[in-house]
Amino acid sequence: MKTRLTGLAAIVIAAWALPYGLGSYTIHVVNIALIYALLAIGMGLAMGISGQINLAQVAFFGVGAYGVAILTTHSGHGFWTAAVLALLGSVAIGLFVGVPALRMQSHYLGIVTLGLALGFINWITNAHVTGGADGISGIPVPTLPGIDLSSEYLYYYLEAVVFALGLVFGLFVVHTALGRRLRAMRDDSLAAGAMGAEIPLLRMTAFLLASFYGGLAGILYAGLIRYVAPETFSIGNMFILLAMVIIGGRRSLVGCVIGAIGLTLVREWLSDFSTYAQLGYGVVVVLMVVFAPTGLAGIPARVRDQYRRRRGHRTTRAELRPFTPYAPAPTTTQGALLRIDAVSKYFRGLRALHEVSLTVDAGEIRGIVGPNGSGKTTLFNVISGFYRATSGTVHFAGTDTTTARPYALSLAGTARTFQNLRLFGQLTVRENILVALDRSRTHTIWRYAVWQPGVIRQERRLRAQADAVLERYGLTDFAEAAPASLPYGIQRRIEIARAMAAGPRLLLLDEPAAGLNGEEVQQLVRIVRSIRDSGTTVILIEHNMGLVMSLCEKITVLSSGQVIAEGTPQEVVATPEVIEAYLGDSELTDLVPDPPADTGQPRRTKEATS
Ligand code: ADP
Ligand code: MG
Repeated sequence: MKTRLTGLAAIVIAAWALPYGLGSYTIHVVNIALIYALLAIGMGLAMGISGQINLAQVAFFGVGAYGVAILTTHSGHGFWTAAVLALLGSVAIGLFVGVPALRMQSHYLGIVTLGLALGFINWITNAHVTGGADGISGIPVPTLPGIDLSSEYLYYYLEAVVFALGLVFGLFVVHTALGRRLRAMRDDSLAAGAMGAEIPLLRMTAFLLASFYGGLAGILYAGLIRYVAPETFSIGNMFILLAMVIIGGRRSLVGCVIGAIGLTLVREWLSDFSTYAQLGYGVVVVLMVVFAPTGLAGIPARVRDQYRRRRGHRTTRAELRPFTPYAPAPTTTQGALLRIDAVSKYFRGLRALHEVSLTVDAGEIRGIVGPNGSGKTTLFNVISGFYRATSGTVHFAGTDTTTARPYALSLAGTARTFQNLRLFGQLTVRENILVALDRSRTHTIWRYAVWQPGVIRQERRLRAQADAVLERYGLTDFAEAAPASLPYGIQRRIEIARAMAAGPRLLLLDEPAAGLNGEEVQQLVRIVRSIRDSGTTVILIEHNMGLVMSLCEKITVLSSGQVIAEGTPQEVVATPEVIEAYLGDSELTDLVPDPPADTGQPRRTKEATS
């Protein structure tokens, strides 16, 4: 803490003293660099943090700058009034770009953003109001009592303050609930949806943030240069901005800032060779993407990892501790919690589910078994809102949820795990849990704009709850670890802990014992029993017949998308159809690998942004 404060004080003093040593041209370059740094923070929030391809940043920048230029020179507004209106305009354009985000996959969104940028560039180059290729000059100096902002030295201080506030706000977003959800969406938007994140709105929020920073940068640019022209907002500059973020490290806002400042300086040095410089940036970007995908900011961590691996270093003597059972809840009124009526699901010609009906009572542990490809996972996907049933209805807790979205079902009290683990890979174990603990709706992010103490208070509460969840599941030692670095059995347990962190009434476990050793299966049995005793209903898809027989009071057997038997374990194993369809084939089914996609979506392809 103390070293941090000293570091901060040193930075503030250095920033304060910086202009004293600089010539008038150099301070101009520094001022430009800070503007690019703000732009890069916006890019980093949209691309690195949220995983959304954003090629419209120059347009947001341009709306800010041209907004001020037009409103001051044409409409006679003062600088600051114009600035506020321009910022609103910029944010409005950001929301406008975000609208297609409500429906589209992110790579299409990349094209939409590029289209917007091109459209904007076209408009400023050709429209009368923007002065065409000549641009707009004569933007007034921003007024500030007692400070002459026509001096680039004093303007630097204005920029430094805006930049510092912008960076602090950006970091605040990244490290609290909103940023965590954005990062979870980037890592695995399906799993994030299943944990209660409203993906479309979050995508929109990403563009909102990008446009806010773009607009701010544009306003500062207009006040600094007092002249705007199309070349500043060109696709070439969009590319430079992209290079800054990729070279600096898009996942880290500080990395984005370093990239922006560094590249602005390099650009100045190379201004005599601009033709080749552009090519050079391209080469550097390609090299970075191939050899250091996390950018400059990611290099220290990579070096550390390499070093540790070479030394065979064990960082901690971490161990998976035993699970602490939940306090049993008194048995309350039993009744149907989930009712599935004649649900069918077709994938083009393929019949994955056919007229499946089943009712699960509150307090049950229900087993769902069946050969591979019999539709078990598809049934979970229908229940949890990933798939919409072709026909039939689903009722959860008395309400019709046939067409409900995953986030709505999560908030209503369902939680699930996935057949192929879907932890948020770039988040720590603690953050994985925190994402699920956060039950708030997206619109509550208004607090980030006007009531930050509320955010901080919520954060404290969530962190205390996360500690309790980690403790209960024996995961405290792994709180700061990256999930992928942990053994499979631990990852499975984390996924259950994450699902339970959402406080569900219904827990869906898709083959939770797959890949576990004997001891781990025993622990799983204890965990599932305790979860049920605490009042959460459990539905369990499982291949391990022994586990299902010992854990479930009632079993539903699927085959080729149809329910072929239902009853107690003893009843079910005695059914001839079951023996024929499942048990008789058990040796065979054990050999058949599972279909790769557990939610039916195409396997996650690595997007350029994630
Ligand atoms: P299980 O979980 O019982 O092994 P699934 O529910 O994963 O089976 O799959 C049931 C059938 O539906 C399989 O034939 C599978 O290939 C098919 N299926 C599942 N999801 C999709 C999808 N998104 N598109 C096309 N076919 C799918
Ligand atoms: Mg399956």
